[in-house]
Amino acid sequence: FVNDLLSHKVGDILLVRITQRLKSLASEKDSVGRIGGDEFVLIKRDYKSREELEQFINDVQNYVTKTVTIDNYPINITPSIGIVEYPDNGEKVSDLLKSGDIALLQAKSKGRNAKHYFSNTKDQKTIDLISLREDLKLALERNQLEVYYQPQIDLKKDKVKGFEALLRWHHPKKGIVSPATFIPIAEETGIIAPIGEWVLREACKQVAKWNKEYNMEYRISVNLSLKQLYKSDFVAVVEEILKETQLPHSLLELEITESVAMADVNRTKLIFKRFHEIGVRLSLDDFGTGYSSLSFIQQFKISRIKIDKSFLKEITVDSDDYKIVSGILSMALQLNLLVTAEGIETIEQLDYIRENNCHEAQGFYFSKPMPPAEIEKKIMN
Ligand code: C2E
Ligand code: CA
Ligand code: CA
Ligand code: CA
Repeated sequence: FVNDLLSHKVGDILLVRITQRLKSLASEKDSVGRIGGDEFVLIKRDYKSREELEQFINDVQNYVTKTVTIDNYPINITPSIGIVEYPDNGEKVSDLLKSGDIALLQAKSKGRNAKHYFSNTKDQKTIDLISLREDLKLALERNQLEVYYQPQIDLKKDKVKGFEALLRWHHPKKGIVSPATFIPIAEETGIIAPIGEWVLREACKQVAKWNKEYNMEYRISVNLSLKQLYKSDFVAVVEEILKETQLPHSLLELEITESVAMADVNRTKLIFKRFHEIGVRLSLDDFGTGYSSLSFIQQFKISRIKIDKSFLKEITVDSDDYKIVSGILSMALQLNLLVTAEGIETIEQLDYIRENNCHEAQGFYFSKPMPPAEIEKKIMN
């Protein structure tokens, strides 16, 4: 509310009044200043104990929390207070201000009129998350994102049938950050939309180029997030990208996890139907981790399921996982679904899925995800 008023005279008057209030509470040695917008810094010196500090902060809170009327505007002031202590929470002013920012954010997340004492240990996760979030916003324009490709093997022909596009972030300080870490952040902040579209375009462009250069018909599988799938213009965006890159529709496969597909079943059905109509393939990722039965997913127009790698991890003849995987495979075959097994690392796993008539496989046994140049070196020649 104050932000709305900032451009008005009223806002200025208010902020001056708050400053005055804070000054009247502080002693001569203390300092008070506005650091921008509706945020203030108050430096309290020479307090004797934690109790004294807490008492002072309660006083500030009670003193600032008020309804004031300026030019007939009734204005509720409810401060959020973040507290940092020198030298426990940092020695440099810049560090203290940074920690103060975090503490304030934490206070705000607790609701109105709350306070938060910064804790080096407890708030570290938040600090990491916030800085990662800020970095991620710039990753795309700073060319820090790269698409890696992992071969998907046709088990009848023993040939590479296509590739899964897997996103990598080259962080200037942290090195490669896993998509398992940053995709959720991208989702939460909404940056997944431009990033996801970039991956799609990049992957389609790359595979169209390979197909032309090596006279192949490789397929490309691209992972989708919930926010992408449910964006109103998503089908149109996909069509546009296919047109632009000249990749045949049938060579694009979109991978959607079971949980994303189930988030809104009716909506998913409609979207999948449209993709089916334009000839884009759909694949259900991480199959087996959710609750959907094969007969249930039959109403979706999907052509493939990918058995989650957790089921293939400890396959021994008498394990439950063994029975689950062979069960999924035999049912999928009856329903005319294609099946890819992911996370194949050993010859034993491979033999097992082969025996159970699995169509395709993907995993470190064949190849890790690699940047395009390495794919060209190791797969195309
Ligand atoms: P996913 O779609 O299930 O991808 C398979 C993951 O398993 C990849 O992890 C891959 O590198 C890894 N993997 C492949 N073969 C093996 C194997 O033999 N053993 C083991 N243990 N792992 C194997 P990655 O690349 O770290 O990606 C993690 C997840 O991040 C993906 O899981 C996917 O959900 C998400 N992701 C990656 N790229 C994108 C993207 O462009 N968009 C979206 N929305 N999500 C993405
Ligand atoms: Ca503010
Ligand atoms: Ca996938
Ligand atoms: Ca998967």
